[in-house]
Amino acid sequence: MSEYKHKEAFALMHYACPCGHREVIWNERDGVTPFTVGCPSCGDGVGLAHHSLWLDRCVPDYKPHPGQRVFCAMPAARAESLARKIAESRVRPGKEREDLIGYLTDDIWRNGEGPDIRIEGYGMAEI
Ligand SMILES: [Zn+2]
Repeated sequence: MSEYKHKEAFALMHYACPCGHREVIWNERDGVTPFTVGCPSCGDGVGLAHHSLWLDRCVPDYKPHPGQRVFCAMPAARAESLARKIAESRVRPGKEREDLIGYLTDDIWRNGEGPDIRIEGYGMAEI
């Protein structure tokens, strides 16, 4: 039995894209990770899929390298701004939009458990 809540806690996660790009992304917390992330090589917004459970390794004291992508906790303010961007593209201004922003913020943030991506040494990634 693991001491962590999630099997991907503090793991080096292996992702692969059909274009050939492979990437190891470190999960710096005991939290869930997305099944797909954008591919930096071909530009496909969801191109990179989690690839190989058996290759993932739990390395709690891992130190990510500059430029390496890292799964981190989603700040509440960022969840709200992502939710606002989505809602503004779908619903006209008004109560319905504000309700959707509230719903989406909760869904993205998940009380701080929602995954975000940063680039070590460069700040938050565009998602
Ligand atoms: Zn790709």
